[in-house]
Amino acid sequence: MLDYDLHCHSTVSDGLLSPTEVVARAAERGVKFLALTDHDDVSGLAEAAAEAARHGMQLINGVEISVSWRSHTLHIVGLNIDPAFAPLADGLKVIRSGRGARAQLMAQSLARSGIGGALEGAYRFATNPDIIGRTHFARFLVESGQCKDVRSVFKNYLVKGKPGYVPHQWAELADAINWIRGSGGVAVLAHPGRYTSGRKAMGQKTLRELLREFADLGGQGIEVVSGSHTPEQYAEFARYAKEFDLLASCGSDYHGPGESYRDLGRLPDFPLECRPVWQAWEKNTM
Ligand code: AMP
Ligand code: MN
Ligand code: MN
Ligand code: MN
Repeated sequence: MLDYDLHCHSTVSDGLLSPTEVVARAAERGVKFLALTDHDDVSGLAEAAAEAARHGMQLINGVEISVSWRSHTLHIVGLNIDPAFAPLADGLKVIRSGRGARAQLMAQSLARSGIGGALEGAYRFATNPDIIGRTHFARFLVESGQCKDVRSVFKNYLVKGKPGYVPHQWAELADAINWIRGSGGVAVLAHPGRYTSGRKAMGQKTLRELLREFADLGGQGIEVVSGSHTPEQYAEFARYAKEFDLLASCGSDYHGPGESYRDLGRLPDFPLECRPVWQAWEKNTM
């Protein structure tokens, strides 16, 4: 088991627990190194670090940046970033500013399929209104009786071809990597298994093109052990890590009780031959 969980969310984005609660839960569950990686926002990190210190746990400053690449939405996790680095902070601010208009369009799309009140409904679930997103709409759709849980929402709503889906232009891949690296962090491709499955799945050829471009732009890591991956995918993405000379990362992608496949906590070991992403910063800072 690994003592690291390098991907999770708080109420600063679409998690259900506050940064303090996330850290306390991770500590109880045996995590020694935790990265809080809220979507497009770093405002939970100071609170999380204070709570981590109380538990003798190491908090790694993180973020999960929304990126558009070709026709795909990707998530790039930044680990060991400096949240005060101006280009990063400014870039995240621009991404956040697009979320409000997108939410209005999502609500209009739902209204056209007979579901009213979604904008106000979703905002009620957004502790941080700047990061209004699909998870908050999903919680509203569960509350209003359209779906039994958040997971089933994403089968019938909010995804391409379904009510509530709105295409959106997120950050450029090169920008996200540059902001992360410029701030001293490591750029990691989050949950690659999500991009190779589902209705907008990319094939192996496109995935290889993505990994080549990601590495050439300065991306250094890939999530191998992820709450979104099956054990077969751990092996698959360990092979890609080796092929593209990328470091391996691990994270639960925990969002809150009852909503995530995997709880916060210690994760299964990497397949053999993986080089853990923490090698990148152990050399320098810790
Ligand atoms: P957004 O950034 O507004 O597009 O929202 C993306 C978030 O929606 C992800 O970070 C997940 O929390 C959630 N999400 C996306 N797909 C699914 C899914 N199939 N099941 C559960 N949650 C999902
Ligand atoms: Mn999320
Ligand atoms: Mn993600
Ligand atoms: Mn995530």
